[in-house]
Amino acid sequence: MITLKGAAVSAKIREEVTEALHEFPGAAPKLAIVRVGERPDDMAYERGALKKMENFGLQAESFSFPGDISDEAFQAEFKKINDNPDIDGILLLRPLPEQINERDIEHMISSEKDLDGISPENIARVFAGENEGFAPCTAEAVIEVLKANDISLSGKRVAVIGRSMVVGRPLSMLLLKENATVTICHTRTRELEKTCKDAEILIAAAGKAKMIDSSYVGADAVVIDVGINVDQDGNLCGDVDFESLNSIASMATPVPGGVGAVTTAVLAKHLVTAAKKRRGSRK
Ligand code: NAD
Repeated sequence: MITLKGAAVSAKIREEVTEALHEFPGAAPKLAIVRVGERPDDMAYERGALKKMENFGLQAESFSFPGDISDEAFQAEFKKINDNPDIDGILLLRPLPEQINERDIEHMISSEKDLDGISPENIARVFAGENEGFAPCTAEAVIEVLKANDISLSGKRVAVIGRSMVVGRPLSMLLLKENATVTICHTRTRELEKTCKDAEILIAAAGKAKMIDSSYVGADAVVIDVGINVDQDGNLCGDVDFESLNSIASMATPVPGGVGAVTTAVLAKHLVTAAKKRRGSRK
């Protein structure tokens, strides 16, 4: 079984970003990371994103707010960031605390700065199969992993486990755009094992530690693990029991070191695209 490492895919995206940076002789594109509260997974993602932006030669600034900030105060702060002409793109760490109306923020964020595809405009574009706009970075990262490893999608049977708006649903639409035959599985799916085993490409985004073992995987299938979970021993792990696939799958992504490493690279790519569009239109 071949291990599909995210670092190699991220390096390819970095080359594209570096090339595109020649078009920015002045200030490099700037990302704003917006965080409310101090959830450890948000903070880990933020650290990773900041490091990646620096590594790719891009600017990034964190805007953090107390976990008990009121809806009104957060909306006012978010508006300032959204309106700030020095900021080319925004990553909002979610979920937000209960008192904040996430829907209002999704409608407020400028679709041109919405690098993680949360605005209604960008969601509609993904579901319509358009080339414009931004898809959620993780969903697009899966496509990048497949393309970078020359895994064709046209006509393939692909099973996606998960139907969230962050991963499963938009990813299914991106796969469909590549002419894959997509089956979307979820908690109510009957005979999950059978559906998964029939897939030529299996993508797990359920958020359940090591739920997928070899009994879900068909011979020579490609397995992409989007899950980021913590196992009983406190170690980071995916939705897939990677070791168990050895004699059955042809290729699989590890966790850590797989899709997660590509997600922030896609974020960087989106930032450059957003900056090009915004700065170009200001000339
Ligand atoms: P979510 O909880 O919003 O959605 C999970 C989906 O999986 C649901 O649609 C549910 O129906 C389905 N599901 C859950 N258990 C199932 C089961 N036993 N059988 C069949 N379907 C099942 O989660 P999410 O936000 O979509 O994230 C999914 C996973 O991806 C999590 O582990 C998360 O940490 C990870 N994630 C990774 C990245 C990354 O950069 N790699 C980014 C976002 C999320």
